[in-house]
Amino acid sequence: MTGTRLLLIGPPGAGKGTQAAILADTYSIPAISTGDIFRANVKNETPLGLEVKSILARGEYVPDSLTNAIVEDRLHEADAVSGFLLDGYPRTIDQVNELDRMLSADGKALDAVVLITADTDVVVGRLLKRAEIEGRADDTEEVIRHRMSVYEEQTAPLINTYSARDLVVTVDGLGAVEEVTARIVAALADKGIQA
Ligand code: ADP
Repeated sequence: MTGTRLLLIGPPGAGKGTQAAILADTYSIPAISTGDIFRANVKNETPLGLEVKSILARGEYVPDSLTNAIVEDRLHEADAVSGFLLDGYPRTIDQVNELDRMLSADGKALDAVVLITADTDVVVGRLLKRAEIEGRADDTEEVIRHRMSVYEEQTAPLINTYSARDLVVTVDGLGAVEEVTARIVAALADKGIQA
């Protein structure tokens, strides 16, 4: 049996990470978060972590070449061979092209792109609250606003790219965690993707 290949896309604070963990369980696929990979490397002070630490703290994107190489390695690990949920990748057109190349080289393709939407003021509020709990270096109001504008500029255009391929399902990210999950599962089922 071959698993599902999904992307999660949406502005910072839309709840991608929370939903990714639940969906990975629901669809029995690994959740792969580039943000988590970078943060783990920063925490462990690896060479990669030292290289990206200040980029993350400023809310900028890590260079495509670095990000693409990390994802390519991760997708070749055994647990991701037959399906995956990518959270936070791709985020630029170059990353879209690279992911296309990686998948087609293996004769694979994406099944769906889940877009989680959320109002800017709501997500800023959520992230400021998370800052109090988790203390992420990029969760200050100034950096959050910057991450939003980087998202609008570099990542939001990807929605059109994937819509043109008829892959996008759009889900409202406001409401209880379980409600949002139920919306995603229903929207994917409409596309013929079963848990
Ligand atoms: P959020 O989407 O809430 O900002 P993430 O955990 O997805 O949080 O990402 C945190 C940071 O990690 C980003 O601001 C960026 O610096 C870096 N990052 C994550 N994914 C990518 C990516 N695909 N390309 C470049 N940088 C990335």
